[in-house]
Amino acid sequence: MRLMATTVELDDRGIIVACESCGKKNRVSYERLGDAVKCGECKQPIKAPGEPIELHSSADFDRLIARSSLPVVVDYWAPWCGPCRMVAPELQKVAARQAGQAVVVKVNTDELSDLGERFGIRSIPTLAVFAGGKEVARESGARPAAEIEAFIARARAAAPAR
Ligand SMILES: [Zn+2]
Repeated sequence: MRLMATTVELDDRGIIVACESCGKKNRVSYERLGDAVKCGECKQPIKAPGEPIELHSSADFDRLIARSSLPVVVDYWAPWCGPCRMVAPELQKVAARQAGQAVVVKVNTDELSDLGERFGIRSIPTLAVFAGGKEVARESGARPAAEIEAFIARARAAAPAR
């Protein structure tokens, strides 16, 4: 079940974002996610992804975590989980406000059960922050956007500088 169409995709090198001016799809490499990037076609600035990105493979997850120049916020969720549905709109707000400062992704633990097992996710929703290729913080349970952002800020403060 897809709740909404996403305008953002991943490939093996980066995040594909459609230019707001001309519609051309541009790849922003994982290593340059925090940089100012211009559209290859019309040279207008490419806006950083401002919505949660639904991941569909653990390979995408691994590449993003290993290479991202920005902290990655992971929402472990599943479609049958009521509290997860409460978190979803809060995470939308967080992703919009953190655009260019953090990447927000969603991991459906039914679809990507190997990730849930690898990271020992015992309950959902669980939020985790990865920086420099490592998990630096984790919290379980639903919470409003402001608390999620405070959690991210604490994780960033604790993360080693890159
Ligand atoms: Zn363009």
